[in-house]
Amino acid sequence: MTIYDAVDFDKHEQVVFCNDHATGLQAIIAIHNTNLGPALGGTRFYPYANTDDAIKDVLRLSKGMTYKAAVSNLNLGGGKAVIIGDPKKLASEAFFRAFGRFVEGLSGRYITAEDVGTNTRFMEWVSQETEYVTGIPEYFGGSGDPSPVTAHGTFVGIKAALKKVKGKDSLKNVKIAVQGIGNVGYYLCKELYEAGAKLYVQDINKEAVKRAVAQFKATEVTEDKLYGLDVDVYAPCALGATINDKTIPKFKCPIIAGAANNQLAIAEKHSVALKKAGILYAPDYVINAGGLINVSAEVYGGGHEHVMAQVDNIYNTLLNIFDTAEKEKITTHAAANRIAEARIKSVSAVKNIYLEE
Ligand code: NAD
Repeated sequence: MTIYDAVDFDKHEQVVFCNDHATGLQAIIAIHNTNLGPALGGTRFYPYANTDDAIKDVLRLSKGMTYKAAVSNLNLGGGKAVIIGDPKKLASEAFFRAFGRFVEGLSGRYITAEDVGTNTRFMEWVSQETEYVTGIPEYFGGSGDPSPVTAHGTFVGIKAALKKVKGKDSLKNVKIAVQGIGNVGYYLCKELYEAGAKLYVQDINKEAVKRAVAQFKATEVTEDKLYGLDVDVYAPCALGATINDKTIPKFKCPIIAGAANNQLAIAEKHSVALKKAGILYAPDYVINAGGLINVSAEVYGGGHEHVMAQVDNIYNTLLNIFDTAEKEKITTHAAANRIAEARIKSVSAVKNIYLEE
């Protein structure tokens, strides 16, 4: 089988296999689509069991970035990189500078950032060899921690869902179950609490729970109780795949809206199941786009105010998705995909008008 036959290849423009014998770097950079702009997506560093798993992951993730950028009205395409191996054993200055040179070799068609297994320190090393890197520290001219920005996008996304379901977006006395009080979950709880919401929290990290209970008068719940809670909103902000065959029959909430990536265990199947159960689902890649919007400012400029205005617009983007889903009798997941694809198609067509380069 060649890469062109891989199920996830799906119209990818370019896939680059990088190998640096001296440092042991083995990386794959996938560029799914650059119709709207350079492909931006983080670099995941993970000890994949084999190359096929790494290929599958990078193809799936880069396509996801195309949709995320498009639906968020960004002038960016979709791409992603994976590095095969254990960060603890392999990461070094030379290793990441070698990776930076491969990124530089793509002349700006791909712009990297941090992801699972990489951090701002690693991106600093990458930036020694290429300007096509984002997510570097603020003291280095970067956009800094994206978590509060992602949290704010999730906050306005929850309000949009409340508006759709209840006709008003007030959070006063609205009951919200937040799973995962990490970087994003903490800032989300803070905004929700300040807006008058009643919080229920669950995390495997007991310190994180203690802090939320003390600071936001949250009620601690266990995971087995969490999914069946009689609340208005379930906000997954920890791991993916928590919306699955086991949890869907338990949900009593009318809304699922949270920051976690890949919330649906099987996207098509479980988005349909949620629709059937009468639960409004805010597509994860739309509501959690604050992080991408934040780093996009490193590419196109624009200060914090501009970033936050774009993040506030997640409210309108989601309302449009909810209305489209209702009108077309499709899932919110399908509506988001349709809106993203329509923007790529219509904006790409503009480029048919000749301009001298
Ligand atoms: P994080 O690692 O800081 O926080 C995750 C939290 O979830 C931790 O407190 C951890 O203890 C908890 N957790 C792990 N397993 C759990 C379990 N089984 N049950 C309950 N809690 C559990 O990560 P983060 O940066 O806050 O990101 C949270 C989610 O949002 C992730 O899915 C991430 O991919 C997604 N996301 C984050 C950003 C961002 O800007 N950080 C942007 C987009 C999407």
